[in-house]
Amino acid sequence: MPIYEYECRACRAQFQSLVMKLDDESRLRCPECGNGNLKKLISRVVYHVSESARLEAYDPKAPKSDSFYKDTRNIGLHAKKRAQELGVDLGSGFEAKLDKLRTNPGSVFDESD
Ligand SMILES: [Zn+2]
Repeated sequence: MPIYEYECRACRAQFQSLVMKLDDESRLRCPECGNGNLKKLISRVVYHVSESARLEAYDPKAPKSDSFYKDTRNIGLHAKKRAQELGVDLGSGFEAKLDKLRTNPGSVFDESD
C-alpha cells in the first residue's frame, strides 16, 4: 500500500498518510493545524518499518553510512539503543524532544527550556 509523506505548508509539520486513490489526497489535512495546503515529500523514501524494528536492527558499533545520518528517523536511535541496553528509562520528555527533533530539526535549538 502506498504510504506518502507530506509537509504542511502552514506549520511545517510532517506526517505520513496512506493514500488509496488520488481523491484521498485532496481531502488530507495537517494533523497539527488542520491546514489543507500540503506538500508531498517525494524525495524521501518511506520505509515500512516500525521504530522498535529499527531499534532492533540497529548496531551501535557498526559503521554508519551518510544516508544513516540524513535519515531523521535515526535521530536519537543511538541514545535509545544504549538506554535500552543499560535498562535506563529516558522518560516521555525525551520522546517528545525526539519527535520534535525528527520532524523539525531546527526547532529544538530555538527553545530555551
Ligand atoms: Zn500544519
